Amino acid sequence: MDFTIKNAVIPITDGYTTVDVQVVNGIITAIAPDLDVIGTRINGEQKLLLSGFVNAHTHSSEHWQRGVIPPLPLELWLAHLYEFAPLDTEQVYLSALGTAVETLLSGGTSVVDHLVLIPGKELETIATAVRAYQEIGIRAFVAPLIQDESLSAGIPSGESSPIHEAYFRSTAETLAIIEEAVRLFHRPEEGITILVAPTGIQLCTDALFIGCIELSNRYNLCRHSHLLETKAQEKLAQEKYGCSAVEHLQRIGFLSASTSLAHCVWLTDADINILAQTQSTVVHNPLSNLRLGSGIAPILKYRQAGVNVTFGCDGASSNDSQDLLEAIKIGSILHNVTDFDYQFWITPRESVEMASLGGAKGLNIDAKIGSLTVGKQADLVLYDLTNLSLLPRTDPIGLLVLGRPSNVVDSAWVNGKQIIADGVVTTINVDELRQELFNRSQWETTRPSESVAQMEGRYRQVMGL
Ligand SMILES: [Zn+2]
Repeated sequence: MDFTIKNAVIPITDGYTTVDVQVVNGIITAIAPDLDVIGTRINGEQKLLLSGFVNAHTHSSEHWQRGVIPPLPLELWLAHLYEFAPLDTEQVYLSALGTAVETLLSGGTSVVDHLVLIPGKELETIATAVRAYQEIGIRAFVAPLIQDESLSAGIPSGESSPIHEAYFRSTAETLAIIEEAVRLFHRPEEGITILVAPTGIQLCTDALFIGCIELSNRYNLCRHSHLLETKAQEKLAQEKYGCSAVEHLQRIGFLSASTSLAHCVWLTDADINILAQTQSTVVHNPLSNLRLGSGIAPILKYRQAGVNVTFGCDGASSNDSQDLLEAIKIGSILHNVTDFDYQFWITPRESVEMASLGGAKGLNIDAKIGSLTVGKQADLVLYDLTNLSLLPRTDPIGLLVLGRPSNVVDSAWVNGKQIIADGVVTTINVDELRQELFNRSQWETTRPSESVAQMEGRYRQVMGL
């Protein structure tokens, strides 16, 4: 596991420099020119070395429905998504691998999988995703997606106390599953971390949130949730709590320095201050927000308020890919049209820091990963600066973020273990994965959805359409 990267290009404050990097037992032990080679010699010439990025919010199993769901807002899109045949564990395994491969090949070395659980096979689902991530070797933050209200509760009703059918599993049973998952799979030192991850205020009771807070306190777990992704959720929060979702989550104690919140599109200035005070992290999922028409998150306001922001791809059926560099690019330049003051626009170097250190902060692991720093774990990516999409030679990070880099990842390591070499994932057989994904699917065109037809009337009425 010991190696030395020779002559890699790294960013420094006022440009770039060429250095050697020694890694011993998974830890970066030296960064300087002309170091002796310890362990394997890695040729870093004409390559850019960066800390690995974090794909800070996704749902791996949506891989099976990417490209097929028509343009619909989140609430109706979800109804459509739920109509597909239930997953089996083999699909969970393959889509976790697919998500990991695409994340790795676009500069990510960590993934937060807000994992959809197969009803009745919840622990099996988690075990399967964990197995896939262990095999491929990506650093995985598995956040089992839980709720305790039925789907119809997620749409505002226009009434103060609507009746919805009960969820099929009790809150206590759900929390017991998560606690068991922690006992069985939470091994941060081995690269597998379990998070408590109620899906969001739209489908969760306070009892579920509070149970998650208790588990996170007891086992020192990070917290993850969707937050105010759509205008409908903003309305729903007012109906449900009589205040904003952020105020409510602060009141019950869910927000903290180890809480990361996906989307955060519909927050007020007061809400933003609460996120800053509580040191919560915003996970920006720009492609999903565009795809579902959710809106544009006020990312520059977050940054000016001192809120930590990082990037996620979101599930592959609301994106419809897992290309982290694409999410970083769109998530950065999107705000040039929302905020006229260009002095606050995100620079490529800031984007890279948000994607690496920002992601690590949101998972409370920034002391261990997220930057090229001696003493940190070696979650590293080497980009091939001779790739056509990174030529001619200009500003390597500028072109990596603002360009359209394709097949640029030459090598990647997680905790010092090499996962990509010469542009190829070495830990699993990607050709076999491609074959399995092909064999277990078929070409299809968009089909009409009965659930969407049922819900559409109410949705259009409540949303004033
Ligand atoms: Zn999501």
